[in-house]
Amino acid sequence: MLTQLRRIVQDVNSAANLNEALCLVTQQVKEAINTQSSSIYLVDNHRAEYVLMAADGLNPDAVGTVRLKMSQGLVGLVGQREEPINIENSQIHPNFFPEPRVKEENYKAFLGVPIIHRRNIQGVFVVQEEQERRYDEEEEAFLVTLCAQLSGVIAHAKATGIVEGITAITEKVAAKDIATFAGIPSASGVGMGQAVVIYPQADLDAVPDRKADNIAAEKSLFNEALQATREDIKALAERLRQTLPEDELSLFDVYLKILDNNNLGFEVMAEIDNGHWAQGALRMVIERHAQHFAAMEDDYLRERITDVKDLGRRVLAYLQQNQQANITYAENTILVGDDISAAHLAEVPEGYLSGIISGKGSSNSHVAILARALGIPTVMGVQDLSLTKVEDQHIIVDGYYGHIYVNPTKQLQREFSKLAREEQELDADLQELRDKPAQTTDEYGIDLYVNMGLAIDASLAMSVGAGGVGLYRSEVSFMARDRFPTEAEQYVIYRQLLAAFSPRPVAIRTLDIGGDKILPYFPMDEDNPYLGWRGIRVTLDHPDLFLVQIRAMLRASEGFNNLGVLFPMISSISELEEAQHLLQRAYHEVVDEGANIEKPKVGIMLEVPSAVWQAQAIAQRVDFVSVGSNDLTQYILAVDRNNARVSELYDSLHPAVLHALQHAVDSIHKENKCISICGEMASDPVAVVLLLAMGFDSLSINSSSLLRVKWVIRQFSMKHAKELLEEVMTYDNPASIRFRLEQALDEAGLGGLIRAGKR
Ligand code: PEP
Ligand code: MG
Repeated sequence: MLTQLRRIVQDVNSAANLNEALCLVTQQVKEAINTQSSSIYLVDNHRAEYVLMAADGLNPDAVGTVRLKMSQGLVGLVGQREEPINIENSQIHPNFFPEPRVKEENYKAFLGVPIIHRRNIQGVFVVQEEQERRYDEEEEAFLVTLCAQLSGVIAHAKATGIVEGITAITEKVAAKDIATFAGIPSASGVGMGQAVVIYPQADLDAVPDRKADNIAAEKSLFNEALQATREDIKALAERLRQTLPEDELSLFDVYLKILDNNNLGFEVMAEIDNGHWAQGALRMVIERHAQHFAAMEDDYLRERITDVKDLGRRVLAYLQQNQQANITYAENTILVGDDISAAHLAEVPEGYLSGIISGKGSSNSHVAILARALGIPTVMGVQDLSLTKVEDQHIIVDGYYGHIYVNPTKQLQREFSKLAREEQELDADLQELRDKPAQTTDEYGIDLYVNMGLAIDASLAMSVGAGGVGLYRSEVSFMARDRFPTEAEQYVIYRQLLAAFSPRPVAIRTLDIGGDKILPYFPMDEDNPYLGWRGIRVTLDHPDLFLVQIRAMLRASEGFNNLGVLFPMISSISELEEAQHLLQRAYHEVVDEGANIEKPKVGIMLEVPSAVWQAQAIAQRVDFVSVGSNDLTQYILAVDRNNARVSELYDSLHPAVLHALQHAVDSIHKENKCISICGEMASDPVAVVLLLAMGFDSLSINSSSLLRVKWVIRQFSMKHAKELLEEVMTYDNPASIRFRLEQALDEAGLGGLIRAGKR
């Protein structure tokens, strides 16, 4: 069964389109469980109906035409119950609904299995036969396993509109021009512009269709890539000559044959002649070969599919070296990709970026955090967007609600432009708060600092009147390079930063990599990266990197003395002491070398639950503490902050997080030390009221949110904030806490911020 299952899934993946795949699946399932009829009904979401999409053993004319209401027949019952229904004689079942066009009146045995993707019913798989019998457990388990595997493919195909025939013809015409997608709202605002797709390097499946601008140039690029790949394969064979037996080495001759001008080369050239660009032509040819191999009965030959794809990827890598480097960014670029990273943002020319859409990640991924800092509307975790189809299309990114509109109508464009204008007006009005204190109506003050990572943040931070930098993510400048920056290079970066804010304090965090922050030149491949080698754990293992960085920071502070050093991911006292020891060593070194500097303030990021429960012991050893609520939330709730699938469970207003924060504030204050919070929660207007009441001494937030946060603080009294805190601390779930706080903001005349707060 497992082999059959694998075979079916492989065929689905290599089918030209979903309709063809569904036909194949029904045929193969009928064969595999030796039954008389096998069919698939998919849900048409527009009409709330099931459509018979493929059938083997029913009337072929019914395919694509027969529709059932969601509650109709046994198919409807399977969907409603969301579980398999396996019955000996369907004809006597009260829900039996004989649809004459289907011609199923002779079938008695019925097994229907729901196809469910992320809690949503996508369709129902049905097998039937004339004999009165129950399908056995193995047959049922087979179909359930198959449906679980098919569900993602089907959901994707439906969402991207690449499955024909679900939507009625009339609706298709109306919906032809506009497609909507949903993801996780990750940076508020409205972005409108042209899609520029970043597709993963050397991923054949992600190569978009594109016309060749210049056929001769595409051919010559392809030739170069093919030649370079052949050289690589020859070199590889040469290297392995000593270790591999002769017959294994002959495989490399086969590879070289495939890469010959007469084989792969010839076919790709023909596709380029048909007008395709080299990368697209290569993808088509490799897909064709892969399908050919997949259809082979012989296991050994079928496995050769991997080799063909690998060769294709190698050629593609060379092609992309030359072609991806030349991305042309539109003046209002909407950056779209399966996995957009901070480095991708950095490559877009300044002022050109209007929106970001990423297939992977969630609102707490680092790229989303940077996007918020830059005020770029962003939607993450958009699972069903087909990259190859949106290239160059006009797109609206609604960063408030996480919606994306491809090819929007004129009217929709007008509505969103109006919304964007209103937001700009609000920001302009808030400018008058720039030089006013962040102080409650009963005159309780709190410091507002900014989070920074990119150099271009500095002017933004200045324009909103930040009181200093509460968190400088030093790793961002490491990410935009192809090697570790030297001490001299780091010195320049930190010196500019400290000078720009002097005499205001600047907390520079030591390198915090791991999790979703990977340096291209320092591979870290871990099964469980958020619980693995991260933050201080990496730098303590690499005193070479750590000492260079600290020395650069210390030297850069000469004459300003406004430096704070922040250690990330501290989970035990011993880690803190080791880090302090290294800091001490670096300090003495640079002083001995002649630098005239004061000792910097030392702090830790409080972002691991163990540190919360040792907060007082930590406070005895440091000058200040800054809560990293992004990580603290992920670790308290056991929710990977980067995983779109569980993003709905991630909520910093969870009572468990709020109680941990209050405990941290009280413990740090017992030692008369200052506590700040620099996670994204501090930029959420709704949460700000609570943080104020808890007693945080400062908030460190995105520059683009600073004035909005100041507005909230100036509208509330400490007395009212404390009453609200006391009240919500008795609540059991985050949704009611958010609801209560939104209500309070609304009452305080800050309703306009509630939409903005939904990032
Ligand atoms: C945090 O974890 O809250 C934090 C500020 O650090 P980062 O988001 O960079 O992990
Ligand atoms: Mg963190």
